[in-house]
Amino acid sequence: MPVGLTDDDFLRLLTQIKDADALIVYVVDIFDFNGSMIPGLHRFVGDNPILLVGNKEDLLPRSLKRPKLRDWLRQRANEQGIRPVDVALVSAKTNHSVDQLLNLIEKYREDRDVYIVGVTNVGKSTLINQVIRQTTGQKDVITTSRFPGTTLDRIEIPLDDGHSLVDTPGIIHNSQMAHFLSGKDLRIATPQKQIKPKVYQLNSDQTIFLGGLARFDYVAGAKHGFTVYTENTLPLHRTKLSNADAFYEKHLGDLLTPPSSDDVTLPKLVAHEFKVTEKSDLVFEGLGWITVPAGVTVRGYAPEGVGVLVRKAMI
Ligand code: GDP
Repeated sequence: MPVGLTDDDFLRLLTQIKDADALIVYVVDIFDFNGSMIPGLHRFVGDNPILLVGNKEDLLPRSLKRPKLRDWLRQRANEQGIRPVDVALVSAKTNHSVDQLLNLIEKYREDRDVYIVGVTNVGKSTLINQVIRQTTGQKDVITTSRFPGTTLDRIEIPLDDGHSLVDTPGIIHNSQMAHFLSGKDLRIATPQKQIKPKVYQLNSDQTIFLGGLARFDYVAGAKHGFTVYTENTLPLHRTKLSNADAFYEKHLGDLLTPPSSDDVTLPKLVAHEFKVTEKSDLVFEGLGWITVPAGVTVRGYAPEGVGVLVRKAMI
């Protein structure tokens, strides 16, 4: 279990879920599935159905096929031992599809309570505020970014049949990129607005740095276009692979930023190498992804603990 999840809140959360007869609404950040995981959740849900909600849909380019993303989220949940009854994509920020989510909740809860669970930063507070606004007309009842240990009281929203919609404490997940960065750096690094893809024509033995936070090496293959999907303001730098280590050493915190020079507490970057047989996305959890063609070998680097993985291309 990652550090930071072993606290009392975590046990309290899981115990609440274990003892409930409820629909569990599990909110995840579609840009950070690993960082959204509540380890062990599957052992506590018992017979309670889980509705998986992928939040921050507003950040996706239009061309991204939503059904593919839903399938992928479901697959990743399955890998964690979770079999969601359904997968919804929403934007808590823009209120997109929140009404559909409410319909799904009504459909699956079958006269039960509803428990909303999620680690911090996935947008759970924003989503619950939207739900409250839609169901009661009240605004911003829940303050965002609460931390475990400070707000432990359950927030219950009455449903019309005597049952409740219950907000559970957010749990800090330390493998999120969010925990390595200051607020300002975080805004530069994590997608804020709809992503505008950037295409790079790369030869093998070229590297792209995603700020100083991650690195992409094109290890082997012919000249190809690679499409980068990250926050629009995150500076990208292309170098020769052979020079990349030295470049990183020299320029971390100035050219390669974020992190900014006064905030270089970043864990060291760890390499993950993949040989892909089909058009794929190399995903940097919390940052975005790079679409790579079939038949190439690539390496993704991210701070230790932050996931790098491949999936079938979504576009
Ligand atoms: P919580 O810790 O899970 O309660 O998350 P918050 O509701 O505090 O949101 C965490 C961060 O994600 C904040 O910066 C929000 O503005 C942002 N956020 C929440 N929902 C969305 C969304 O649907 N889209 C985008 N782009 N950002 C979101």
